[in-house]
Amino acid sequence: MKLIKSILNMIRDTSASFAERVFVLFSIISEIAVTVALIGDLIIGEDIKEIVLLIAVLIVVPVITFTFRSMHRINIAIQLLIIGLVFVILPGLFFLGGGVEGGGVIWFIFAFLYIGLVTTGRWRTTMLTLLFALTCVCYVTGYYHPEYVVQHTRGLFYVDSFISLVLVGIVCFAMVSFQNRLFREQNERAQKETERAEELNRSQNRFFSSMSHEIRTPINSILGLNELILREPGASEEIVKDAGGIQGAGRMLLALINDILDFSKIEAGSMDIVPVDYRVGELLSEIVGMISLRAKDKGLELDVSIDPKVPSVLYGDEVRIKQILINLLNNSVKYTQSGKVGLHIECGDIKDDKATLQISVSDTGMGIKKEAIPFLFDAFKRVDEQKNRHIEGTGLGLSIVKQLIGLMNGTIEVNSVYGEGSEFVVTLVQGISDRTPIGELNIRNYGTARKNAYESSFRAPEASV
Ligand code: ADP
Repeated sequence: MKLIKSILNMIRDTSASFAERVFVLFSIISEIAVTVALIGDLIIGEDIKEIVLLIAVLIVVPVITFTFRSMHRINIAIQLLIIGLVFVILPGLFFLGGGVEGGGVIWFIFAFLYIGLVTTGRWRTTMLTLLFALTCVCYVTGYYHPEYVVQHTRGLFYVDSFISLVLVGIVCFAMVSFQNRLFREQNERAQKETERAEELNRSQNRFFSSMSHEIRTPINSILGLNELILREPGASEEIVKDAGGIQGAGRMLLALINDILDFSKIEAGSMDIVPVDYRVGELLSEIVGMISLRAKDKGLELDVSIDPKVPSVLYGDEVRIKQILINLLNNSVKYTQSGKVGLHIECGDIKDDKATLQISVSDTGMGIKKEAIPFLFDAFKRVDEQKNRHIEGTGLGLSIVKQLIGLMNGTIEVNSVYGEGSEFVVTLVQGISDRTPIGELNIRNYGTARKNAYESSFRAPEASV
């Protein structure tokens, strides 16, 4: 009873490998089948050598199975038993049990199925080939040398073949249905694990987004109050300098939090593209204005060229397009020490009220190693960290850019020569709301605005808000 329980536990043990559980089960089924065959052989008075062979199988199979299992070397047990099956048991059953006029040949089918189910890879191919060769050898020898075969009477042949057929049928049925059950069990487990992982991911995203949301509010207060210090007419130079530092760090923190918020939104599948009509000129002016200050700070030239054919009012998600371009341009400025940063926009096909824009952001910076390009858009992945360790970054920017572009059904490509520079080419299709071409944009003057000193754009001392 105890033995049966421990065998059942072995088969049910989900921590054991699939092959191991199948193998233990098949060994048990084979043992039962051999016992029944032995009883049958004893009743019909089968050749004594065949009976000895079956008794040997009854003893050897469990000894090998349980010895190697306790040593955690189940593979060796599988291999030994298959070798024994192919080279000893099957030829024995064939030659001692009446050749083709006996039940032995039916066990060849069992062997093919057994090898197919419990082995894998090269071992399986080898053993199946050997089994096929053995089948040929048995049949050819039996045909040309019938003296090697212990012959059966007609009655014995019928009884032996009937017992073998029924046994092999039941064994094959049990094997296949058990394997099906194991597959189902494994599938259910895998499905549950996937669901658990997805739930974990969702709760992680919820945590990130609520955290980012909570952090944004106090940062905005800090930045707002700091802005008041910066605008204070009587503030000393030192205070303005320190407040400038607070502003820089605060903005960086805000950008980081925004990135995390966007990332978790995209991961949770709740980032929506909100298309609106937008003026291309205004969008580009704003972006170029912002970047040219950063480029100027680093002594970089900003080279902007916009195809005059671009329609003046497009329909798309202005906020996200701005975010993509700022991200790419910021990276170009960040990873370039000298030379220039370029923004070039070409207008491709215009048809059915849709325009294809090809936006290229290029730089003469440090470039990206060829082997790093496949990981460039992975979240939290920074490449060439050795060189970049003094440059602030989280590795989230490009991942967000790629996913936003994907949401807009666009594409992004990277061309880069390490040490010489990089080019990111974004292709986006936008709706057209006003076909009038944008014409020659004079964008070069942007960025000449004063950066440090605060100037109020209007005064309304009497206003009450
Ligand atoms: P990060 O916050 O680190 O800038 P990104 O996702 O924006 O994260 O970029 C991922 C990595 O790709 C960066 O760490 C950098 O190594 C590399 N990279 C991005 N843009 C450029 C560029 N224009 N030139 C060189 N390397 C770049």
